[in-house]
Amino acid sequence: MRSAHNVMKYFREICTIPHPSFQMEAISDYCVDFAKKRGLEVTKDEACNVVIRVPGTSSRRFEPPVILQAHLDMVPAVAAGVTFDFSKDSLRLVEEDDWISAEGTTLGADDGIGVALCLALIETDDIPHPPLIIVFTANEEVGMLGAKALDMSTLKAPRMINLDHCDEGSVVIGCAGGATAELTLPIERKEISGKLIQIEITGMKGGHSGEKIHLGGANALRMPARIIREMVYSGHTGFGMAEYSGGTAENAIPKNSHCVLAVPEENAADVQAAAEAAADILRARWRKKEPDMKIEITSCDGSANALTFESTRAFARLIRDMPNGLMKMSEEMPDLPQTSLNLGKGWLTETEGKLVYLLRSSVDAEKERLKTEVANITKDYGGTAEFSADYPGWPIKLDTPLQTLAGMVWKWETDETMEITATHGGLECGLFAAAYPDMDIISVGPQMFDIHTSDERLSLSSVELVWNFLIQMMEQM
Ligand SMILES: [Zn+2]
Repeated sequence: MRSAHNVMKYFREICTIPHPSFQMEAISDYCVDFAKKRGLEVTKDEACNVVIRVPGTSSRRFEPPVILQAHLDMVPAVAAGVTFDFSKDSLRLVEEDDWISAEGTTLGADDGIGVALCLALIETDDIPHPPLIIVFTANEEVGMLGAKALDMSTLKAPRMINLDHCDEGSVVIGCAGGATAELTLPIERKEISGKLIQIEITGMKGGHSGEKIHLGGANALRMPARIIREMVYSGHTGFGMAEYSGGTAENAIPKNSHCVLAVPEENAADVQAAAEAAADILRARWRKKEPDMKIEITSCDGSANALTFESTRAFARLIRDMPNGLMKMSEEMPDLPQTSLNLGKGWLTETEGKLVYLLRSSVDAEKERLKTEVANITKDYGGTAEFSADYPGWPIKLDTPLQTLAGMVWKWETDETMEITATHGGLECGLFAAAYPDMDIISVGPQMFDIHTSDERLSLSSVELVWNFLIQMMEQM
């Protein structure tokens, strides 16, 4: 007979406390109060990370501790047309059949349910468990800022269960590290008057670069450069890039791009025909993988303070010659990308061409190698590369004791085989694995769909399953 638990009670309480990223005071205080009321040792640091230490139950007091980890913040997404103030409003919970969601907004089950599972476990008094180090990190969704600021030196434990996974029945055992590269190419401009040729590229599949990069879709920001290079190859000169933009974030494969070329009147017709011919090559190249792709080329009279032809050519060559997309698949896991980079944003300033890439690899040495390559190629074209938001990967280790136990417990609970997975995205586990390379870490969580969107929903029966899994793990480990 399993004891009753309060997972959903605490989850609902969390939903009444505004906790979007960068607003971590109230939610972290709530967790600190929770621990203090129960006489537990608790610390909160400047980044609003909360660490609660729970002694092991009677006979298990002297076992090595296990870390249970979840993040405190949620992504504040609101549906179109909905008014909601994430800085003060409570989420409006809706339950329908097995699903709980929030009306018009994200639910924050990512990762409020991870926090609630930990709080419910702390509260139990009839589940045997080793000493627990509960780690609630702040601002995970905005670059893992909390985990990066966390003092790892006091978190020594041989095992860790991260509760930030959103797929019941699978366990994550590895992730990619990442780094943002911002490339700057100095440019020169001059007035070009005659025709303005506008190239609008739309309808690409896009997607999250941690999930879709290996599917081989097109990158909309690279296409104008491809068109320009075809034009240069066919002997056209004298035109200049007047506008170039596209992409929303470095971790999103851009779906659309916009480019305007300024061309002197006398070769305008030729240049436009060459652009059309180049667009035809692209249409043929992508007709299978990007069936909805549209390249629209239009022109009008006008003039612009455009890049010189030399600057235009150099910028287009940099974009084209920089590697992009999948670099290598994993050898441990056949469907998993190991190393990739994604051109996510590009634009022009008065004096510079700008490109932002996200580099990812589950092997840190490969990421470093890629950084060197990106920096050197940029330098070859007269530009500079700056790297930031660097975080380590969580290297895949197969068949660890914690994985084996998780698989056994899951099989016992559900009669199904737990799937072993890894992600090309980033997880906080990477920072723990970097601090403690021998720590045995898994990531699990109940079933959610459409996280980070206003359609986010959480399965109530799955919470029940994961709760039972978690307490079995505590008993058996
Ligand atoms: Zn999360």
